[in-house]
Amino acid sequence: MARIVVLGAGIGGVPMAYEMKETVGKKHEVIVISDSPTFHFVPSNPWVPPKWRKPEDLKIELAPVMKKKGIEFIQKAAVKIEPNNNQVLLADGSAVEYDFLIIATGPRLAFDEIPGLGPDGFTSSVCHVDHAAVAAQDWDKFMENPGPIIIGAVQGASCYGPAYEYLMILETELRNRKIRDKVPMTFVTAEPYIGHLGLGGVGDTKGLLESALRDKSIKWVTNAKVDKIEEGMMFVTEVDDEGVDKKKHELPFKHSMMLPAFTGIDAVRNEAAEGLVNPRGFVLIDEHQRNPTFKNIYSVGVCVALPPVEKTPLPVGTPKTGYMIESMVTATAHNIAEQLAGKEPTHHASLNALCLADFGDSGVAFMAVPQIPPRNVTWSAHGKWVHLAKIGFEKYFMRKIRKGISEPFYERMTLKLMGIVRIKGH
Ligand SMILES: Cc1cc2nc3c(=O)[nH]c(=O)nc-3n(C[C@H](O)[C@H](O)[C@H](O)COP(=O)(O)OP(=O)(O)OC[C@H]3O[C@@H](n4cnc5c(N)ncnc54)[C@H](O)[C@@H]3O)c2cc1C
Repeated sequence: MARIVVLGAGIGGVPMAYEMKETVGKKHEVIVISDSPTFHFVPSNPWVPPKWRKPEDLKIELAPVMKKKGIEFIQKAAVKIEPNNNQVLLADGSAVEYDFLIIATGPRLAFDEIPGLGPDGFTSSVCHVDHAAVAAQDWDKFMENPGPIIIGAVQGASCYGPAYEYLMILETELRNRKIRDKVPMTFVTAEPYIGHLGLGGVGDTKGLLESALRDKSIKWVTNAKVDKIEEGMMFVTEVDDEGVDKKKHELPFKHSMMLPAFTGIDAVRNEAAEGLVNPRGFVLIDEHQRNPTFKNIYSVGVCVALPPVEKTPLPVGTPKTGYMIESMVTATAHNIAEQLAGKEPTHHASLNALCLADFGDSGVAFMAVPQIPPRNVTWSAHGKWVHLAKIGFEKYFMRKIRKGISEPFYERMTLKLMGIVRIKGH
């Protein structure tokens, strides 16, 4: 009987454990290790600060669901991976041995790379549900004394959609409270243009998002390098197309949320064995999600190394979104099953993107097949339906995690949408 250890229990890790267990049944052991007792539905974090969701709404206790699925759950933080000994070292000094390891540990939020960035500095965060809970308190203080808002993503970030979402959600909330006129809003981003999204744009995301920002009187600075943040003030250098400094901005704010750059988590990147990770601590993988050096280690989710889609004046990373992660999970489950059967892995992730960016009362949807250009299908659209679809998706995904359901949701949705898009003659 092989021991298959999944490290991390987020959007990647939990579906990974379910699909792995369903693939290997009782013949092999599946173990999940997570530093948190709960699963967190990260995509809904931007709804927490304006109180559209409570942090508890986005959490699911993992021990009971894992037990029901026949999966062992170890609630401890990993501190080191020892690929040469096939073991994961845990914070309490114990070790878990594995035959196969799937690293699904998500990102380390590199707030430390810019002075004053993040919840320990002067900007809020919605990357983790606990940060979003703190941001909700910041938001209450802001409401007592409103003023300028700056939202965006710093140089090196690889996640842009949630910045646009948070911006538009707050804009909707301010309108609902009839105080939008008291709040100048600015979007500050390392992207070379609005709607790039780390993907070189998808369909007309440039036009759609620029238009949405103009429509809502939101200013923006693109090619923006954040130099430092002090209380109530952001210092930004705008660069030109060659990456040369063009203009300095000093932007005052009363509330700000800037998505940080990511690295791999400390347990994966610190003192990592040669060949496991790249210099930023992201796990190196081949087309089968398998580490090229350690053939019994796989990785899924935000923690995998992917190159940027194109060269940009400032570093702009490739986002790893839900559909990509789902396809990484499915490929990994099948590949490990093949290795267990003595074969070489043959499955690879489709790496398509299907994203819903919520704007509070409407939104933008886009599909990129494959995510990295050139593409067979690019499509984007906007409307109130996107906001409703996002709520539906949250309910669906939470149910899937709670009930232990393993099914390729994105794959099915994309095939349906591709059918519709083709019929419409795109
Ligand atoms: C605010 C936000 C909104 C997003 N919205 C969307 C969206 O709408 N649609 C979309 O497709 N994508 C979205 N994404 C991108 C992506 O889908 C999410 O980031 C997703 O959570 C990534 O899943 P993951 O499993 O890689 O990482 P995570 O979900 O972060 O999971 C990582 C897991 O590893 C565990 N872990 C970490 N360190 C350790 C350790 N030392 N030991 C043990 N366990 C550890 C964590 O507790 C967690 O369980 C969003 C991202 C953000 C930040």
